[in-house]
Amino acid sequence: MQLRQSSLKGGKVRCPSNRTHKIHGHGSYERYRHSVGGKRIRIRRWLCVVCGRTLSVLPNFMLPYRACGVGPLDDWLDAHYHQRAPPPAGELEKGCLERARKRFEHRIRSLSSRLGQMVATSHPTARKLWESLRSHGNLAEILRSLAEGFKISLLGDYRCLLLWTSP
Ligand SMILES: [Zn+2]
Repeated sequence: MQLRQSSLKGGKVRCPSNRTHKIHGHGSYERYRHSVGGKRIRIRRWLCVVCGRTLSVLPNFMLPYRACGVGPLDDWLDAHYHQRAPPPAGELEKGCLERARKRFEHRIRSLSSRLGQMVATSHPTARKLWESLRSHGNLAEILRSLAEGFKISLLGDYRCLLLWTSP
């Protein structure tokens, strides 16, 4: 399972199914992130010894499965839906941000039907949906709300966001 850093209560990693379970460090893996020159980020992994399941904690500035950062995507979508010049980005990063925007637009119906009250209108345009989400906070906050409240992310319904059940 994957948690967002901002979802950790008191900054401490615990078993998402039962807070009293013992958790051990369980190695790490690398994720690539676009930035000037590109950057590798090490993500730590944890094992709940009772559940036998692993857990990783994604930094708040990262998106699940995407190499573009949360801040740049936030700026990219804001600029796109308000007809402003896009923020500066390298070619690879631009491609990643554009693919992310298109993916978001493919998910309008799915997101708006599942988010219910969080979205102002029932059949929003991409811009209305983005504005509606954005009224709750920045993209980092939106991602936390989606993961905690709905077990989904902005760009996908990833299995890694689903809570496991305790044995
Ligand atoms: Zn556990």
